[in-house]
Amino acid sequence: MGIEICTVGGYNEVGKNMTAVKVDDEVVILDMGLYLEKYIRYTEDEDIVNLTGVDLIKVGAVPNINKIKDWWGKVKAIVPTHAHLDHIGAIPFLAGNFNAPVIGTPFTMEVLKLILKNEKINLKNQLKVLGSGMKLRISKNLEIEFINITHSTPQTVMIAIHTKYGIVIYANDFKFDKYPVLGEKPDFKRLEQLGKKGVISLIVDSTYASSAKKTPSESVAREMLKDVLLGTDSRKRAIIVTTFSSHLARLKSIIEFGKKLNRKIIFMGRSLGRYTEAGENVGLIKFSKDVEIVKYSKKIKKKLKSISKDIHKYLLVVTGHQGELNATLSKMVDQDIGYKLKSEDHIIFSCTTIPTPTNIANRTALEEKLRSFGVRIFKEIHVSGHAAREDLRDLINLVKPQHIIPAHGELKMTSALSDLASEMGYDLGKGVHVMMDGQKIKIGS
Ligand SMILES: [Zn+2]
Repeated sequence: MGIEICTVGGYNEVGKNMTAVKVDDEVVILDMGLYLEKYIRYTEDEDIVNLTGVDLIKVGAVPNINKIKDWWGKVKAIVPTHAHLDHIGAIPFLAGNFNAPVIGTPFTMEVLKLILKNEKINLKNQLKVLGSGMKLRISKNLEIEFINITHSTPQTVMIAIHTKYGIVIYANDFKFDKYPVLGEKPDFKRLEQLGKKGVISLIVDSTYASSAKKTPSESVAREMLKDVLLGTDSRKRAIIVTTFSSHLARLKSIIEFGKKLNRKIIFMGRSLGRYTEAGENVGLIKFSKDVEIVKYSKKIKKKLKSISKDIHKYLLVVTGHQGELNATLSKMVDQDIGYKLKSEDHIIFSCTTIPTPTNIANRTALEEKLRSFGVRIFKEIHVSGHAAREDLRDLINLVKPQHIIPAHGELKMTSALSDLASEMGYDLGKGVHVMMDGQKIKIGS
């Protein structure tokens, strides 16, 4: 019967990632994510009492699992690669359709548990933890393996599915960072070993496949932060930093330099609280000994009021790097929440703008408003968590797959990876396959 792969979601867009791999009559689901923009638009516009998978599929906010309806009864495991919402965010709404466990690294599963707790969703699926570098037999014929890899959130893995037809490697998302700020280096040795054993298919992140470079290490972002925090004159000014709440390595660097500046560090916003809690629960970090965490709006307002006269003694890390309207940074410019921004206060965006129309519009509006206060804005203090073209070439050379399926992107991104594969000797349609959401392909028998 062989291997059949359904590229369920994340092949027409950056979001709602999900791929199903059928080996004979057994299926493994890899990732089950949200398309955040559509999810937010839907949940903001509608007065919804109960979010259901069916409705979320209709509005395109989660992968359309109806594309594999005939496979539902064969699913043996749901395996997310990491804790980002475009990889785990649909699990609360869709996993219940499958009689299968959800298996992830400790941090990924901890974040998932906190989401379920917050949303008051009871998932019937068993939640299993598998450490990076470990293998787990999920049926007589199938074994999955987690390979340690670097990305912009901790304990990200590549997933290898060992089958009698060869190994399928799922590499969504990753970067090759030999100098990580938190966690271990990528397991290059294991990837090379798998390459020698025989990789039949590589399903791989194509988001930056057109970018002719190597994605810089997180240690470069740490130096950029150091430069902007310690290398500018911020005396008597507020310092407000915003970044991805799930990026614990970045937060670690911010804390380090905040301490060097002798400032008290405060995290403000719910998602910063959530990811810090998950990281501490699994023993990855211990931020709370250095940082005060204030999650909710009322408490944030009270806190800001109480420190506003001494604001230069603090470093605030706030949510809202994409200009999200409900986040702390937007509230600081739109409402009276206890501290009014002053001329030459430092606002540091340790992020990039995720290029969706909503984000671009929100960020532009936010920056205009910020400028009206006369603050100093430091943008793009950031490096990406996604592999660029030359990292992708290295991965392909390491694992030497027979087939390549570009994932995690719009057509222009998946096509860019296909171009790279062609450059490396793969034939379009034979060795490299550009897929769209909901398509299926047979690759071995
Ligand atoms: Zn990610």
